[in-house]
Amino acid sequence: MNYTKHVRTDATQQTEPIFGKDQIQNSAGGFVFAVDDWKRLDRFLILGSEGGSYYASERKLTVESAKGVLNCLKADGVRVVDRALEISEQGRAPKNDSALFVLAMAAGMGDDATRYAACMELPRIARTGTHLFTFLENIRAFRGWGRGLRSAVSRWYTGKDADSLAYQLVKYRQRNGWTHDDVLRLSHPVPSTAAHQALFRWVTKDEMLGDLPELVLAFVRMQEAKDAKDVIGLVEAHPDITWEMIPSKFLGSPDVWEALLPNMPQAALVRNLARMTANGLIRPLGDATRVVCERLVDETRIRKARLHPIAILGALATYRMGHGARGTLTWSPVTEAVDALDQAFYRAFGAIKGSGKRTLLALDVSDSMEMSEIAGMPGITPRIASAAMAMVTARTETSHAFMAFSHHFVPLNISPRQRLDDVVETMERVPYGGTDCALPMIWAAKNRVEVDVFSIYTDSETWAGNIHPVQALQEYRRKMGISAKLVVVGMVANEFSIADPNDAGTLDVVGFDTATPDLIADFSQES
Ligand code: CA
Repeated sequence: MNYTKHVRTDATQQTEPIFGKDQIQNSAGGFVFAVDDWKRLDRFLILGSEGGSYYASERKLTVESAKGVLNCLKADGVRVVDRALEISEQGRAPKNDSALFVLAMAAGMGDDATRYAACMELPRIARTGTHLFTFLENIRAFRGWGRGLRSAVSRWYTGKDADSLAYQLVKYRQRNGWTHDDVLRLSHPVPSTAAHQALFRWVTKDEMLGDLPELVLAFVRMQEAKDAKDVIGLVEAHPDITWEMIPSKFLGSPDVWEALLPNMPQAALVRNLARMTANGLIRPLGDATRVVCERLVDETRIRKARLHPIAILGALATYRMGHGARGTLTWSPVTEAVDALDQAFYRAFGAIKGSGKRTLLALDVSDSMEMSEIAGMPGITPRIASAAMAMVTARTETSHAFMAFSHHFVPLNISPRQRLDDVVETMERVPYGGTDCALPMIWAAKNRVEVDVFSIYTDSETWAGNIHPVQALQEYRRKMGISAKLVVVGMVANEFSIADPNDAGTLDVVGFDTATPDLIADFSQES
């Protein structure tokens, strides 16, 4: 009797757990490792659950994520607040929504110290008026308006100097039915200066008395403007006027946009590229085009704006198509602008030092990677996002190879010299099927490809193989005599990972965290 026919640790069907390992079943029916609640918190903070995933509805993914947050709150609530702050403030997440939700959970469900910490950090996580409104919408789900919350919200208004506050009041006027009028009535802040007092009276009573900041006066005059010329005059006199402050009937005018251009914030520049192309301001060889492109790639501006690379990738994916996902706006993409977005994407990650290690960038192109959108970004599926993330590492690691897999090897012809819109197009055409995350290691062993680091971009919904990815990794190490490492770049905010938490040669990172390429390089270099 050969008992090892039935029990062994070196090769196990993915639909069964590895003998002796603590594994859980993923949504595809395969067995994988669970990431701990803190790693799961990071995935949620960075990737969010908007739109759900191939396997889980938005509701299910959100409820599951929130359970993980609750576990973390019970273990160490202040650490949860600190983590949300860190990821939010450093601009590591594509959207701030999950940080604001986690903050609301902490402020409502945490212990005293956690609730206090959450209230204290409110102005640093809710940096704009829109963030504040989103937080207040969230907080209704977890607690009422007590003294702690009132004073935290009051500090949001009184802690800013009058000019900064005026900017918030006229730029972000309402969201989800919330207005500053509502919030000031609920929080009753005591004005810290005469200018604050004038601002509060203007918002709650519509009275224009006392020391109102210049920007508010300009805003009020702009709402009464008769024609674009009046608006342009005001824009030229007040550099802090943004497009959000201008009545929408004037936003079709290219002249208004031209006046806005010299002081346009980086995010507005990226977000309105299509609009400025449609209205003719951005055109081949145009003066405005040159100005816009220089700004788009300006490293100082990129750093200061903390604009997330996926916002740039999303803009690029939409811009190249020449029409929006919604609405009727069309434009002819200007190549210089596409090139500038391409460059801006890489610069948004900051400087990354490569490890010099031989790196296999293995992209899961299975069906489940095609179905959802990262952070609700139109057209940015986990599969396209994976390719873009892998491109960042490919440009810093000279010794690299790309491969794509689903249940078999899929030829993938991309190179770091390609522009991202080409890469996106290539990724859209790649055929797909079931999932076997062991394939990169099996493929490298079979073809005797020397690899120091396997970077696998996946949702860890693997099920289709006769050997688990970690077993294939061990076999690769044995066969090739290389202590190869495995990095799992998680592209969906689920709790699954193909990385064995007990193997020091493996690492879990979050896809579309701006810190990820650096983390991969550091881990690759460690001996
Ligand atoms: Ca899959």
